[in-house]
Amino acid sequence: MDVSELLDDLNKPQREAVAAPLGHTRILAGAGSGKTRVLVHRIAWLIQAEALSPANILAVTFTNKAAAEMRGRIEQMLGYPIGGMWVGTFHGLAHRLLRSHWQEAGLPQGFQILDSDDQLRMIKRIIRGMSLDEAQWPPKQAQWYINGQKDEGLRAAHLQAGEDPYSQNMLAIYLAYEQACERAGVVDFGELLLRSHELWLKRPDILAHYQQRFSQILVDEFQDTNTIQYAWIRVLAGQTGHLFIVGDDDQSIYGWRGAKIENIQKFHKDYPDASTVRLEQNYRSTGNILAVANAVIANNSERLGKELWTEDADGEPIQLYNAYNERDEAAYLVQEVRNWMNQGGQRSDVAVLYRSNAQSRVIEEALMQSAVPYRVYGGLRFFERAEIKDVLSYLRLISNRRDDAAFERVVNTPTRGIGAATLTQLRQHARETNQTMWQSAVDFLQQKILPARAANALSAFLTLIDSLTPEDDTMSLHELTALVIDESGLRTHFAKDKTEKGQGRIENMDELINASREFMRADDEEEMPLLDAFLAHAALEAGENQGDQWQDCVQLMTLHSAKGLEFPIVFMVGMEEGLFPGQKSADDPLRLAEERRLCYVGMTRARKTLYLLYTESRYLYGQEMHPRPSRFLSEIPAERVHQVRSPQNMAASGLTALASRSQSADDNGFRTGQQVMHQKFGQGVIIDTEGNGSHARVHVNFKQAGSKWLVLAYAKLETL
Ligand code: ATP
Ligand code: MG
Repeated sequence: MDVSELLDDLNKPQREAVAAPLGHTRILAGAGSGKTRVLVHRIAWLIQAEALSPANILAVTFTNKAAAEMRGRIEQMLGYPIGGMWVGTFHGLAHRLLRSHWQEAGLPQGFQILDSDDQLRMIKRIIRGMSLDEAQWPPKQAQWYINGQKDEGLRAAHLQAGEDPYSQNMLAIYLAYEQACERAGVVDFGELLLRSHELWLKRPDILAHYQQRFSQILVDEFQDTNTIQYAWIRVLAGQTGHLFIVGDDDQSIYGWRGAKIENIQKFHKDYPDASTVRLEQNYRSTGNILAVANAVIANNSERLGKELWTEDADGEPIQLYNAYNERDEAAYLVQEVRNWMNQGGQRSDVAVLYRSNAQSRVIEEALMQSAVPYRVYGGLRFFERAEIKDVLSYLRLISNRRDDAAFERVVNTPTRGIGAATLTQLRQHARETNQTMWQSAVDFLQQKILPARAANALSAFLTLIDSLTPEDDTMSLHELTALVIDESGLRTHFAKDKTEKGQGRIENMDELINASREFMRADDEEEMPLLDAFLAHAALEAGENQGDQWQDCVQLMTLHSAKGLEFPIVFMVGMEEGLFPGQKSADDPLRLAEERRLCYVGMTRARKTLYLLYTESRYLYGQEMHPRPSRFLSEIPAERVHQVRSPQNMAASGLTALASRSQSADDNGFRTGQQVMHQKFGQGVIIDTEGNGSHARVHVNFKQAGSKWLVLAYAKLETL
């Protein structure tokens, strides 16, 4: 593609942004207006028109998947590989830096990454070790505190405890946690950024090297950067680097993780000479979809204010479906997916978005029963599954004996007679002597402290890890992985579980062998041992590419992880008060505003058809609820909506959008006036019917039980 072609297929302000003179640029624009597209073209432009080397460019994306796509797109446009360019997530890029400069950063060479689950376990142990009451000082709260401080760039040493026990204890836990990580040679996600930021500050020579190299820094989804991320970018840019940031204040959805929308305005103050480009034409969605998204977000105050319009036709109305319960919701969804496929559509055109991971299970079951392949992004990701983490922990310990989190996880998994008492002693010794668990175990065995049985068991474990550790690099990574699975006893252990679940665990472990066989180091990881590169990959990419990437699948994910993506067909399920917006947001205007932005993000993922689903009753988190429809539904204009079914609770809900359209559907063999028999409710007469197919409902007046709406698919009614 030559230079002029880079500007084809762009509108005027987009072109202006792509071809802007070298300097600072800020793009502020709504969903689907081409921000990411502009960023990609800008990179190609810098290389083609400004004759910069790809090695001068660093681009930050929101996911590893987005990074891979971005690289692919640019290479396609340029027609040659751009290996030297750095593109990745903040975490990925910071990790890369620390791998190159582990020594200067004060880390062991094989340092491992602690994921959030490992982190929580570690904090739990610390709290116990400090003899604090876990009920009063929940580990999750401490985790939240620690991560929050790290997001702000603050270490325990920077903080001062107040008079109150809360800040005193939190700080003490934070301090002990920092020491434990240091001892174990592990870093958590927040630490990656914090540590690389500190590295730059304490080593101006290293910083100068990168400043010289990366003269162009581009950041997508800038509205979701937190304090330390923004500081990281600013330090890297220094006096000479050029920043190109794109963002949308209406799509800031990570406030709960420390993201600062204000960074968008701060950027303008910090770089007063930056030019701002606004994009207003949306190329993604139909007129109807855009209209409802705009109408919802208009209810937020303190917006930077943007108008979005489309040349597209209004398209289909928004499909609003009032389900009877969550199973009915899933059944309707599956039916619509099948309709789409019958019309020749792809499954991967369809995304199902939910507020909470727990909602996916029922939908997964319904899809499974109908044999519709699907993939879940987020949730329990492949690399986060228990059995996978077990195997990975063995591998981590093989690579780094200091890794206490890994030690704790597998020392008695599968059980090998190392009891809780022994472990408590080990932990105490480790704390007192400021050593790792591994070293403490070695001490114990040398000093013959333990009773014979415990000593034998522990000794066997240490010998096992030593024997699994390759002496040279003749063994391939997948051979090692297979060896670990067999020799550790994990395979035999899970094979004892004859259920589908146990079988699934074995399959997952085998899949891990496959993953390690296929694993290839990135170009820049040449100097890193393959095992370490693989473990880092597992920690950083956890599940983004879960399942078979190439299979045509329905995509299931949380609203949060849908950011930046687009799909022809989008289902937003569980549009209910208490779920979306969540319970805690109802009385908190800031939280509510963030939930509304999340709704805006969800709606603007849809290109062609947007379904909004809500139920009258839902079984979630172990209890049955009868939620009211989400307030976001009442914020959308009625004329844009097609109500698939007239809800019974419409009057109570105060929905403005719902033009009642009762459907009489007696194609299922039941009709008004018919006598029926129900197993539990007994005899009754049908007084109303509605809906079609698998989600058809009947209103029955039972002699004993009174009147009830029933879903035919579940009710097992017999005609009399
Ligand atoms: P989000 O805020 O959701 O991240 P975005 O602003 O990054 O959205 P893109 O994903 O870059 O938007 O673009 C949305 C869609 O519109 C994409 O399919 C993109 O290819 C298309 N698009 C953007 N600009 C144009 C254009 N000038 N002509 C044709 N299609 C365009
Ligand atoms: Mg984008």
